[in-house]
Amino acid sequence: MTTIQNFIGGQWVPPSTGEYGQSVNPAHDMEVVARYPLSAKSDVDRAVQAAVDAFPGWRAMPAPRRAEILFRAAEILCRRKDELGQLVTREMGKVLSEGLGDVQEAIDMAYFMAGEGRRLQGETVPCELPNKDAKSFRVPWGVFALITPWNFPIAIPSWKIFASLICGNTVVFKPSSDSPLCATRLVEVLEEAGMPPGVVNMITGAGETVGETLAMHPDVQGVSFTGSCSVGEALACSVAQLHRPIAMEMGGKNAILIMDDADLDLALEGVLWGAFGTTGQRCTAASRIIVHEKVYDEFLDRLVRAANAMRLGDGLEKDTDVGPLINRRALNKVLNYIRIGKDEGARLCCGGNQAKHNGLTEGYFVEPTVFSNVTPSMRIAQEEIFGPVVCLIKCDSYEQGIAIVNQSRFGLSTAIYTRDVNISARAEGDLDSGLVYINASTIGAEIQLPFGGFKHSGSGHPEAGGRMGALDFFSRIKVVYRDF
Ligand code: NAP
Repeated sequence: MTTIQNFIGGQWVPPSTGEYGQSVNPAHDMEVVARYPLSAKSDVDRAVQAAVDAFPGWRAMPAPRRAEILFRAAEILCRRKDELGQLVTREMGKVLSEGLGDVQEAIDMAYFMAGEGRRLQGETVPCELPNKDAKSFRVPWGVFALITPWNFPIAIPSWKIFASLICGNTVVFKPSSDSPLCATRLVEVLEEAGMPPGVVNMITGAGETVGETLAMHPDVQGVSFTGSCSVGEALACSVAQLHRPIAMEMGGKNAILIMDDADLDLALEGVLWGAFGTTGQRCTAASRIIVHEKVYDEFLDRLVRAANAMRLGDGLEKDTDVGPLINRRALNKVLNYIRIGKDEGARLCCGGNQAKHNGLTEGYFVEPTVFSNVTPSMRIAQEEIFGPVVCLIKCDSYEQGIAIVNQSRFGLSTAIYTRDVNISARAEGDLDSGLVYINASTIGAEIQLPFGGFKHSGSGHPEAGGRMGALDFFSRIKVVYRDF
């Protein structure tokens, strides 16, 4: 067990409260992975002040020099990939291949944002009058508050931190209380890469105190939040009164539409991966499967057999397909939704129970669960469950299938499986979500493109990935006219 500290002004320091919480291994809930500071408002004040003090120097450093630090961070992440991937699995439970994938996303983002340090383009335009020029360029905001969840404990903080930094902002980072050790290791990488003191600060503790104080701090210029809809929307209401930008990347109720001409092998693979990868704890997890009536029975039968064959266990063990849920609260929430599904009249086709890993009474495991006979308005088809539970809904046409997919308050990710190129082209426009996948599952991202959701899944301007997303959010555009 490791005791971690806050990182303020380049120093690892204990919280003013002297109090610590515990992060546990969700596959073995008796194993404490780390003790982390339960910080107070005064710790937040110190972290923000350190970021304020570091801002002029960091802003003045040419972006290609800032990029060199990110290049070094990428190299360190590459060197430590195995160790960090294992830590991801140990602290939040996803299987090792996904833990390594989490670190790889951070590596990719570090290289990408480092490359942007030599671009960060603005525009020059021809002027209507002689002897005049006009140009736009990017300037940083100042101090950013970055608040992150536990399900991509290295990747999501990296998306935010690297994009903020390359644009010239300094940051105070508040990671999830369920993954503070992963966050600490990431900050250590930046420290080793040569980040000047105060440019990156990390503070841990309860979201409702530390997170909220940070987001509302008078010296913070912008907020980037990824997490649940309930927390994100409440936070956005408060932050809006302060006239500062806030990006919210929130939950989903993502759907896959399987047409009668679909390659069912491919669709099955996509549904298994989308629904049960990361134990269904992805914002983009596939949780509604809308299947054309002509292939519904066959697909249901194949899905149930495949789900029953999945092996639950510690993600560090080689044969594990599905790891645990993050904590006891999540376990109770998922089991409650399974009860709700049964009460609503859906048919439980497999799973539905808490599972005992290797017969031991430890860890937060739920069997991969499939409901059929689900109707679009049932709660299990409308609310984010965030666990290994998937709902099958029948449709009789493309039009009805699209209407069911779009009947959701969320709009993060959707997918369609079809061999018809015309139908897939129509679906690109008809599917109402920020991310659309054709003959692929609802998950996965290219970091060069924006990643974010419509409707209640996001604030409409993705800040994750890409120039149109991240760089446009983490920098301001200044326009200069000059007569000569
Ligand atoms: P969460 O409970 O909303 O927490 C997210 C972060 O916010 C944590 O650091 C949390 O701190 C902090 N927080 C909690 N209450 C707060 C408050 N009142 N003010 C400020 N910060 C506060 O979400 P989660 O359980 O960690 O993550 C799962 C959710 O994230 C799911 O809904 C998932 O869909 C969503 N998600 C979305 C995306 C996306 O890109 N759209 C990606 C990943 C996950 P504590 O941990 O200390 O409570």
